[in-house]
Amino acid sequence: MAKTKLSWIVFVVTGLIVAAMSYILDRIRGTKNLVFFAFIGVVLILYGLSKLLMGIAINIGKPKREYKHTPEYHKKDHGYKYCPKCASKLRSTFNFCYNCGERVN
Ligand SMILES: [Zn+2]
Repeated sequence: MAKTKLSWIVFVVTGLIVAAMSYILDRIRGTKNLVFFAFIGVVLILYGLSKLLMGIAINIGKPKREYKHTPEYHKKDHGYKYCPKCASKLRSTFNFCYNCGERVN
């Protein structure tokens, strides 16, 4: 997840570096040899930004999937109990604690 989120930054940063380096080197040497590379840099920046915008658009389109913290989830969670000895979370059907072996009824 983190890698896919960061990828657009990689494109934008790489594009900025390529474009800036090409521009600076051309300026220093008084040439226009690196205009093509500057163009590639700009394309990379635009590609990165479009990836970012696509990501935002997809996230807006998606319904939020946070079932874990809904009231329904907590209602289902009542099938659990806690070990009196080590406080491990156990299914209410368990007779013994899987963690410490304490009998739990
Ligand atoms: Zn226990």
